[in-house]
Amino acid sequence: MNKRDQHHTTGSIKFSRRDFMKFSGMTILSAGIVGTHVDALGKQQVTWGFLLVDMKKCQGCTSCMLACSLVHHGVENPSLARIQILQNPYGSWPDDLTIAQCRQCVEPACVAACPVGALAPDPEFGNVTRVDASKCIGCKSCIAACPYTPSRPVWNFTEGHSQKCDLCAYTPYWNETGGPEGKKACVEMCPLGAITFTKIVPDQNREDSYTVNLRGLPWARLGYPGWDTPLLDTLFASARKRTGGGR
Ligand code: SF4
Ligand code: SF4
Repeated sequence: MNKRDQHHTTGSIKFSRRDFMKFSGMTILSAGIVGTHVDALGKQQVTWGFLLVDMKKCQGCTSCMLACSLVHHGVENPSLARIQILQNPYGSWPDDLTIAQCRQCVEPACVAACPVGALAPDPEFGNVTRVDASKCIGCKSCIAACPYTPSRPVWNFTEGHSQKCDLCAYTPYWNETGGPEGKKACVEMCPLGAITFTKIVPDQNREDSYTVNLRGLPWARLGYPGWDTPLLDTLFASARKRTGGGR
């Protein structure tokens, strides 16, 4: 039994959300609005897709970080990953791990801060915002401007420019098509299925709108909390009926 499971079974679990949301000046969009892109009037270019995570499911293996670095740079280097797993050795499940992925903000502060337009939506890949390394002057303004901690743009120390999650739009070391319409390495490689993708714009005003429950019935059977009990009873009943067995 690993450390995370031990914390779970002790019953001393805290469920308070981490306070990682600091940015409050964004346009308010309710969940349920499908991602849009630049229209004829030149309105806001919103990326067509967003990564959502289940931090309760994550086990901290960092496969997502290594996959991110590998497909973009050809090496497994966590310092080059655009998704970050933060581990607190003193924390208890589920507050011992944080998945810090770019939120592909509707009004991205990183884009607004770039003085040379090196960070911009890419219409070829569903308006995902990405850094054009050939234009980046290395001022790190985008890294400072991102309102989240840790900052989602990261510094590429080997090439001397900023970089951020592009939903795997440009992955020279991966023989797959990425971007909002393609595959995302972190989603594909996570052995726990703790990362998923949606085209629905998450509520920009809620800190937990990029967090979802991806655990499914097997996790509920293990006793992981956070499940609606009447719903669970219904699910277990129908599963019993299908298999003809007991719980
Ligand atoms: S890098 Fe930061 S500001 Fe830019 S889109 Fe991602 S989360 Fe938003
Ligand atoms: S690959 Fe999945 S389980 Fe592993 S650290 Fe990333 S999100 Fe967590």
